[in-house]
Amino acid sequence: MIKTNLCGMTEGEIRNFAGCNYSHAVSIANSLYKKRINDISLLQGIPKLIREKLNEISVPGIYKPAASEKSSDGTIKYLFRNRQDFEFETVFLPDSRRVTVCVSSQSGCRMGCPFCVTGRFGFRGNLSAHDIVNQIIGIQDSERVTHVVFMGMGEPMDNLDNVLKACSIISAEWGISLSPGNITVSTVGITSGIIRFLEESKCNLALSLYSPFPEERARAVPSEKKYPSHKIIEIIKNYPVVKKRRMSVAYIMISNINDTEMHLEGLKNLLRGSKIRVNLLPFHSVPGNNNISSSPERMEQFKHELVMSGISASIRKSRGIDVSAACGLLATGMK
Ligand code: SF4
Repeated sequence: MIKTNLCGMTEGEIRNFAGCNYSHAVSIANSLYKKRINDISLLQGIPKLIREKLNEISVPGIYKPAASEKSSDGTIKYLFRNRQDFEFETVFLPDSRRVTVCVSSQSGCRMGCPFCVTGRFGFRGNLSAHDIVNQIIGIQDSERVTHVVFMGMGEPMDNLDNVLKACSIISAEWGISLSPGNITVSTVGITSGIIRFLEESKCNLALSLYSPFPEERARAVPSEKKYPSHKIIEIIKNYPVVKKRRMSVAYIMISNINDTEMHLEGLKNLLRGSKIRVNLLPFHSVPGNNNISSSPERMEQFKHELVMSGISASIRKSRGIDVSAACGLLATGMK
């Protein structure tokens, strides 16, 4: 008999599954998600009868990565393989007291953005809430994690049920207990998914823009044709402000491609008057693509101009390039 994984269950699901009350379900969830206990006999705060029942039908289900690679800057890239044999990658990014884990929501991706290695890897399958949450609690030093970003492999809005469930486990008091303001879901934009995400979660949203001009964006982000970014930005702009929730645009900067004065003006026109923040990211070259990143000076200039026009902007550092753990590079080392 294949035993059921407890990891990936909400408190309510644990209660139904174990036939226990709220406080015992919370104890089980705490043992799993906070203490990372991976042995049913060691689960704390529950009667012996429930422990014995759980032992017969379930396992905690926390599993370790199949491989890891450490960058010279301290970033660690993990390769996971789940029960279905899907491979996916996770990146651990320690930065003094802020420790971020970048999780995957799918094995591969079906959105086909040509600048991204994950897109070229093809699509293997959706990850369950269990696989997503395990990327945080199944790694070394997981208790240090302060922030989670869904910027690994996959398009989160294409696997929204599992992403929303994982977000609720990560943010719940009985779960990993991170503030929703410390969880960011990044998307190229599936309009209906974004609306549902905004309604059902309090986590941050980041839209990968690439270009303020729809035709140009459609060449790099094919989903633009079906889900226009201008429409998505209007939805985000008009969505009621939720305290501590951050809406942002991720803008990968490519020299002489999308970092011209025209692009800067386009970006200002698109975002002026909104609370949407711009995160400028360096481009990471991938095999078969001769483009290079905008220079640090050009990125600084872009940021300055945006800030001067009232749009908050910041530059994100590159991390883990030597182990292909940076944005757009996940899956480089995979078959
Ligand atoms: S950029 Fe994101 S949505 Fe596009 S192929 Fe890569 S992982 Fe998928």
